[in-house]
Amino acid sequence: MRQTHSRLSRLSGSSTVLVRGAGVAGLAAALELSRLGLAVTVADTSPAPGHGASFYAGGMLAPWCEAETAGPEVLKLGLEAADWWEAAVPGLVSRKGTLVLCPPRDQSELRRFASRSSGHHMVDADAIAELEPALAGRFMTGLFFEREAHLDPRLAMTALWQQLEAQGVTFRLGDAAQGAESEASLVIDCTGPGAIDRVQGLRGVRGEMLYLETGEISLSRPVRLLHPRHPLYVVPRGGGRFMVGATMIESDDGGPVTARSVMELTNTAYALHPAFGEARIVELGAGVRPAFDDNMPRVVAEREHLPPGTDLAVAGMYRHGFLLAPALARQAADMAARRLMENKGDANP
Ligand SMILES: Cc1cc2nc3c(=O)[nH]c(=O)nc-3n(C[C@H](O)[C@H](O)[C@H](O)COP(=O)(O)OP(=O)(O)OC[C@H]3O[C@@H](n4cnc5c(N)ncnc54)[C@H](O)[C@@H]3O)c2cc1C
Repeated sequence: MRQTHSRLSRLSGSSTVLVRGAGVAGLAAALELSRLGLAVTVADTSPAPGHGASFYAGGMLAPWCEAETAGPEVLKLGLEAADWWEAAVPGLVSRKGTLVLCPPRDQSELRRFASRSSGHHMVDADAIAELEPALAGRFMTGLFFEREAHLDPRLAMTALWQQLEAQGVTFRLGDAAQGAESEASLVIDCTGPGAIDRVQGLRGVRGEMLYLETGEISLSRPVRLLHPRHPLYVVPRGGGRFMVGATMIESDDGGPVTARSVMELTNTAYALHPAFGEARIVELGAGVRPAFDDNMPRVVAEREHLPPGTDLAVAGMYRHGFLLAPALARQAADMAARRLMENKGDANP
């Protein structure tokens, strides 16, 4: 490892890595690359980082809950996420767990969720009231995933951007940086849904969300409400604001939220607590989650699957962008370092 680092430090003066895309995948990759001592430029067509799918995310770092629908790899890779984020953007990670609830008539949903996931214990009405006093008396049983965490993606993206600038990473924003490849030793595509049609095998999964504002209730942690048709979660953002998400629609349409989705999201929020019925809708938005057929994010290194002029892509983050960006950024940085050393004729790193 030490040998690899000394070979890398020989490269770092002469090699610039261009990261296209300043969403969670791009910023995490930029951090891991700069930790290796490489010069990094991040280019994004938006005027500021974090304005793609990352803008709409719940920011849940919930590897055990996600295992309900995802394979074991998501749990394995996601375990390090909360620690990585805490180190990267200190003070922004809340480690209060996730509460999973369901109405009494849907108890079978809770049993199914419990059997398909791990890292939880059953909670009764008293324990639910202790965890979330606002929900006292409303639910008889639930699951508590106490090791899970969450963050506010918008605060995290801004903090990471500032941190990267302070470390010397160059940002080219509002700029597609066409032609910048010729100045870079290596190009990594992190353009999220922008890579659909350019990175082979990607599709879009539309996710609609809204922000509610109410002083009537407060929550300490993300609460997932199971429902056979419209499972939903509510993530507290502080200041009486709650992010309510999210639809899962097979489409790469990032256009305005539909009336039907607003009804589904607000109905389920109302089922969690009637105070949400009087809350103000302060924001509606839709993001497109980039996904491969197996919904598993990955670093793509095969040139025939990549756009011309691109060496690697961190792609298909699906519904795991914040959860899996740390692990994939590390993989991408290691692969980038290896490629750079190979290109310089240092073929045995
Ligand atoms: C409603 C919703 C809720 C979610 N909740 C969670 C959650 O709780 N936890 C979790 O882990 N994940 C969650 N996700 C998933 C997560 O948001 C995505 O996986 C993640 O944001 C994808 O990140 P990305 O960096 O790949 O793409 P993006 O965030 O879309 O970033 C791509 C960037 O590339 C830029 N770009 C595009 N084309 C170009 C180009 N040609 N040149 C330069 N720049 C370009 C864009 O402007 C953008 O800034 C959620 C997603 C949605 C939609």
